[in-house]
Amino acid sequence: PAGGAVCPGRHGKPGYVSMSQSILTEEKTMKNILMIGTGGTIASEMTPSGLTPELNSTQLLSFVPRIGEMCHVDCIQLYSLDSTNIRPAHWLGVAKTVRENYDRYDGFVISHGTDTMAYTAAALSYLIQGSPKPIVLTGAQKPIWFDGTDSKRNLTDAFLYACRGCGGVQIVFNGKVILGTRARKTCSKSFQAFSSVNYPDLAVVQDEHLLQYMRCACYPSPVFYDALDDKVGLLKLIPGTPAAVLEFMLDRFDGLVIESFGVGGLPEYEGDASYFDIIHRGIARGKLVVMTTQVPNEGSNLAVYHVGGRLKSALRLLEAYDMTTEAAVAKLMWIMGQTRDFDEAERLFYRPVARDILYEN
Ligand code: ASP
Repeated sequence: PAGGAVCPGRHGKPGYVSMSQSILTEEKTMKNILMIGTGGTIASEMTPSGLTPELNSTQLLSFVPRIGEMCHVDCIQLYSLDSTNIRPAHWLGVAKTVRENYDRYDGFVISHGTDTMAYTAAALSYLIQGSPKPIVLTGAQKPIWFDGTDSKRNLTDAFLYACRGCGGVQIVFNGKVILGTRARKTCSKSFQAFSSVNYPDLAVVQDEHLLQYMRCACYPSPVFYDALDDKVGLLKLIPGTPAAVLEFMLDRFDGLVIESFGVGGLPEYEGDASYFDIIHRGIARGKLVVMTTQVPNEGSNLAVYHVGGRLKSALRLLEAYDMTTEAAVAKLMWIMGQTRDFDEAERLFYRPVARDILYEN
């Protein structure tokens, strides 16, 4: 396993190890880390129209010589994009790059814009499952040349974690290590940009010390996937959303995640069953529907109220429970890349991947 720890379950059931190490205790042999650049604020220059990603990974590293003392780094500049422009095709590109280089490196650092980093982290968690090597996403709220930037700390921490942290996909940002399936951008400006939703932080990095709160899952080898179906939509309800909007979304997409209210339910205005009927017809046409909540924490439970319970008992739909919306969207794309059969989709959806769902229904 990564980090040189002993993995008791290596040859049988997955086991766990925990670590608390300092980078000041240098490794005897330096780790080989691949840095994959994709753009974002961290790599941005100021242009007349605003910040634009222009710096490549080698240029980023030249701002942080400390990283060269910690490990050997090779760089691949895959994209130079504001993450607003990152799409599922780019997630596949990152996963392919990790796969093609997997055997040659001990860990991977992906520099990425913060805006859609949580989606990329979720998608990579499904595309690269059970990696014994750390795959770390990081970025920054301020460009690397900016006075008081968070870029240098985040990059250093990300490399430290790639050298010594747990396997799997995680975001390292502002000293926190967050599981890739649990991350959400919750602050648009301050350095504490990401939160872990319905799951604890895995670790913290303080002054180049790695403090692991959670034991590492030990994986023998990764399983890579190379297909996603991006015909997935997300509908956030507001009070009064016309049922026609739902109908449009179900015509346009083959998979639909619906962010409803509270623990979950669909409106029945004055007893009008339009929402229910539209979803019923969509499911009959083979559409996959996932119900979730727009409440930031604690997840859904459709069974509590009539407005949700009726749906759950009568229709073959899926429920996200404690999953993040980002993970629900990415998981649905990953599932639809493999099957459209409801029973198989249901099996895959509720099977935990990288601790994305805890709730047992
Ligand atoms: N708009 C930028 C991006 O997501 C924001 C950032 O990186 O912080 O690429």
